[in-house]
Amino acid sequence: MTSLTIRNPATGKVIQEVPVTPAEEVARAVERARTAQSGWAARTTRERGAALIRFRNAIRDHAEELVESIVRETGKVPQEALMMEILGTTDLITYFARRASRILRPRRIGIHFYPTRQSTLHYVPRGVIGILSPWNFPLAIPIGQASMALMAGNAVVLKPSELTPLVALQAKRLYDQAGLPPDLFQVVTGDASTGAALVRSPVNQVFFTGSVAAGKKVAAVCAERLVPVVLELGGKAPALVFEDADLERTAAALAWGAFANAGQVCASVERVYVHEGVHDALAGALAREVKALRVGPPGRDVDVGSMTKPQQIERVAQLVDGAVRDGAKVLCGGRRREGPGLFYEPTLLDECPKDSEILRNEIFGPVLPIASFRSEEEAIELANQSNLGLLAYVFTEDRARGQRVARRIEAGTVMVNDVLSTFAFPETPWFGLKESGLGLVHSDEGLKQMCQVRHVHDERFRPFRKELWWYPYSTRKLERFFRAYRWLYTWLYR
Ligand code: NAD
Repeated sequence: MTSLTIRNPATGKVIQEVPVTPAEEVARAVERARTAQSGWAARTTRERGAALIRFRNAIRDHAEELVESIVRETGKVPQEALMMEILGTTDLITYFARRASRILRPRRIGIHFYPTRQSTLHYVPRGVIGILSPWNFPLAIPIGQASMALMAGNAVVLKPSELTPLVALQAKRLYDQAGLPPDLFQVVTGDASTGAALVRSPVNQVFFTGSVAAGKKVAAVCAERLVPVVLELGGKAPALVFEDADLERTAAALAWGAFANAGQVCASVERVYVHEGVHDALAGALAREVKALRVGPPGRDVDVGSMTKPQQIERVAQLVDGAVRDGAKVLCGGRRREGPGLFYEPTLLDECPKDSEILRNEIFGPVLPIASFRSEEEAIELANQSNLGLLAYVFTEDRARGQRVARRIEAGTVMVNDVLSTFAFPETPWFGLKESGLGLVHSDEGLKQMCQVRHVHDERFRPFRKELWWYPYSTRKLERFFRAYRWLYTWLYR
């Protein structure tokens, strides 16, 4: 394969051919990035922040064009392109450009029983970071990660999804226009084999966002190369709706959480478990919300656009058909729209058997299955019945219950009475438990993960010419050590 044919998923029409970067060129890109990185790492964090703010301003000044490109390449609606991709990215760059020097400031550690000594942790850039990204947020995911990596003093080589390379290439042009070092951030294009070439190249850390299956393959190569890898993989977010929830607000939140981006969000609400006492009321409110959604070619007055990946709409159709065979009741939707474009009707499935595939496997499309529970214990058990653990949601007006239930759900993030939005808050971490991933992105901790830690240990003052535990050993020394040992753990640290 020498080129990728990029199509508009809402029309099926070809937008552009994009050349595939050969494997040798991927390796050369990494080499050039490494050369550029040494000069970049020598700049102060404040200087790097000022450069990143110029990149942010270029994104801000070209927001309309970026919205158009995102809409054309993904089929999502413009409101979501602006809100979920551009706004979040702009804010993330601003946050880290302003805060990185504080976050990455060397950290002093005192030694509790030996005050003559001290340690300092220094956060040093790792070198070249390879980023592999999916198609559902072609700007927010890769450019957010790349901007953080650059702020930490690294260079970046990005391999965007084979379905959506144009947005990444446009971001790269804006980066160049902003006058940042061109080789410091590069984009290589192609499919999984180009991604594999990047993972095998001498990058110093890999950020992979995508499917569990591909993530495991990437992790295996990173293990062989002994380079750190951060994996952001699939999700099967449950929403638990308790009998005291505000049902109108909950239905509106669930509709948005399940159908935004046509349900193609790793954090999408993928299954609702509702208390049997309010099941009918919630199902009715949800059906009203979902029936009111306007579906169609992405425009200003459309709520749900097209899906992005042809194989994905087929998978969604198979899952829905399977659920219906298992006994689920279709409350609305349930079919693909006729005509061009990847449009699947927003679908609500009720009375889904608790072991059905639709409640177990990631759907990644505009489908929301519902089942009911009898007790808090059962709700928590159902929520945890998954190999995935990215996001989970709890709806209740009882704040103590919200906290109590949230802490028992096996998910990286549990939100109470809200959905999806923490991805847009740069100070909060984004990560999955179980097979949803390893490591984290975003947050101050995420920025530190993009650095190597160098531990320097030195002396504050020198009370003895030689340390007490050095040679020579003797019976007297041993006895003194025994005495000191007993004194420490009998009296000092009781
Ligand atoms: P994918 O795994 O097919 O591809 C992701 C990226 O990795 C693409 O750029 C692809 O070309 C590349 N790739 C695939 N196989 C590779 C390999 N063996 N070596 C190197 N690179 C390889 O995933 P996708 O279909 O693009 O994305 C959908 C999945 O991503 C869903 O499961 C979704 O939940 C997940 N996702 C997770 C998050 C998160 O933050 N946890 C965010 C968005 C999407």
